[in-house]
Amino acid sequence: MKHIYFPEPFRIKSVEPLKILTREEREKKIAEANYNVFALASRDVYIDLLTDSGTGAMSSGQWAGVMLGDESYAGADCYYKVQEQAHKIFGLPYVQLVHQGRAAEKVLLPILLQGKKYAISNMHFDTTRAHVELAGARAIDCVVPEALDTAKYYDFKGNMDCGRLEQYIKELGAENIGVIIMTITNNSAGGQPVSVENIRQTREIAHKHGIKFMIDAARYAENSYFVKQREPEFKNSSIQDIVKATFEDADCFTMSSKKDAIVNMGGLIGCRDKEIFELVKQRTISFEGFITYGGMSGRDIEALAIGLEEGIDENYLKYRIGQMQYLAARLEEGGIPFQSPVGGHAVFVDAKKLLPHIPYYQFPAQALAIELYLEAGIRACDIGSYMLGNDPDTGKQLEAEFEFTRLAIPRRVYTQSHLDVIADALINIKERAANIKGYKIVEEPPILRHFTAKLAPID
Ligand SMILES: *Cc1c(COP(=O)(O)O)cnc(C)c1O
Repeated sequence: MKHIYFPEPFRIKSVEPLKILTREEREKKIAEANYNVFALASRDVYIDLLTDSGTGAMSSGQWAGVMLGDESYAGADCYYKVQEQAHKIFGLPYVQLVHQGRAAEKVLLPILLQGKKYAISNMHFDTTRAHVELAGARAIDCVVPEALDTAKYYDFKGNMDCGRLEQYIKELGAENIGVIIMTITNNSAGGQPVSVENIRQTREIAHKHGIKFMIDAARYAENSYFVKQREPEFKNSSIQDIVKATFEDADCFTMSSKKDAIVNMGGLIGCRDKEIFELVKQRTISFEGFITYGGMSGRDIEALAIGLEEGIDENYLKYRIGQMQYLAARLEEGGIPFQSPVGGHAVFVDAKKLLPHIPYYQFPAQALAIELYLEAGIRACDIGSYMLGNDPDTGKQLEAEFEFTRLAIPRRVYTQSHLDVIADALINIKERAANIKGYKIVEEPPILRHFTAKLAPID
């Protein structure tokens, strides 16, 4: 076996013991959880791939920072440190702390969408879509068509379809569009990168029509690593320089610090416009807390200031993306279909192809996630029709463009043998794929239902 593989640029100082349940125990646990993996207790999970959000391992430097955190209500030391760090890395003049990515969306999106009808993105992440809708607007996705063919190689499957974007602006009217959002990497399309060229082009289209351009920046570092690998203009640039080019002239950004900034909790908002920033500060005080802590404790802010820097270290990113490439290579060998080339934070298994006999309204990607738990105690999640939910106007089940079972890899947490367990489990499941059944929803809330809905197997 020949794999593109970069070893860990760290060693392990503290370990967390894991329990492995039997198959019978797991059958009982998943039934008790009403076949919703979010309802499983983490102690009943062996390898937790539910998300890479807030699940990373902090470095010894970050843990040392935890002790230095200043818990003052106003003007804490760590506040100035993170401001300085964020200005240096992203280059926007105004930065606001909030407690996570969706808090950033809750604070900022209603400001941008006031009196507007639409937000357009390469692809809205689920919480972003929810906050666009809560602000009374509709969220439109506009990813390049290459993203829809999971077997096709394309360097930047996360890109905005700029031709279609222009068409949308013409049809919907620029005055009705509050914001154009570039999600980097494009999470819902499979953690797929967006090129700096595409970011520039999208930004120019937005500005030509007087529309604000925002970056959903959760994975700014992983995106920049792909840019360095694949975009000739940047092959000799540092990751920091690529991050700068990415954020150049963006009007604002929202960020979940729980991803590339490698902290367990945190979020950021960045703005270029002073008037918008004044509104951001006011809303932050109402929803998150005083502006110098924004819903975070001082120790977490200190760890964030350090994580922002560690996240753009090139050796770390080589290892990080290398883990995805290793797992992807093993799956390819085993004939498991996935969004290819593999993205930055997860392998997105193509459940539509692996379980072609299960229709979208019986949630093939959810069915595969449940099988992974039964097979090896692995917790993955559905990024497909089950997650997408119902049409807010008609209440009917929507059909997602993809039926992905996402294997999100936490940062600096699992070893290569864990990755082998995951690959072997999927290969075993493939052998009995034809016997796997779909699921139906028996109870669901109206918004973000995938977190709490109850399901039952279809006989
Ligand atoms: C995680 C994520 C969010 C939301 O962030 P939280 O910290 O989970 O609230 C928004 N957008 C993208 C692209 C994300 O990956």
